[in-house]
Amino acid sequence: MRLKIVSVGEAVLRQPARPLTAGEIRSAEIQQLIQHMRETVNDAPGVGLAAPQVGFPLQLAVIEDKQEYFAGLTAEQIAERERQPVPFHVIINPILHQQPGDEVEFFEGCLSVPGFTAIVPRSRQVRVLCQDETGTPRVIEASGWYARILQHEIDHLRGTLYLDRMLSRTFCSLDLHARLWKDKTIAEVKAALT
Ligand code: ZN
Repeated sequence: MRLKIVSVGEAVLRQPARPLTAGEIRSAEIQQLIQHMRETVNDAPGVGLAAPQVGFPLQLAVIEDKQEYFAGLTAEQIAERERQPVPFHVIINPILHQQPGDEVEFFEGCLSVPGFTAIVPRSRQVRVLCQDETGTPRVIEASGWYARILQHEIDHLRGTLYLDRMLSRTFCSLDLHARLWKDKTIAEVKAALT
């Protein structure tokens, strides 16, 4: 079932989500929510979806990055983003540790801010302590684009959107980004706009 994705302006996107108990994680309701979130993010399509984006203030997000999603990027763009496929997985009750002093900047978007994008600085490397959909503790070491996805989704669980972190002068529509900035370097975009 495809769920309705809420947009910026809805209070649920601005509230801290609450952790799930072990019993809740195993419940039929949460297992069904995970399945519906998976179908919703695949359908969108997107690389991640947090429970507050479908109206549930719970510390739960689903992530999957597929080769086909970055087919439009050049080999050089894929390499500089350190982007590679990430299999579908679930993060619950995550704790984020960011590697300080190692930030990277790229355009980023969000299903809850449809039609727009902006340059967002993010840590290049992160460690995430969380539970999976069975309640089993997991430690995720990530770098590059996967680290960016994790930071974006965990932000959602704290009521934070990329809008709060973006270089606001680079904010633009996806149409305009495709026409003007898609093939420029981040340095060129910043030189022109900031
Ligand atoms: Zn988002």
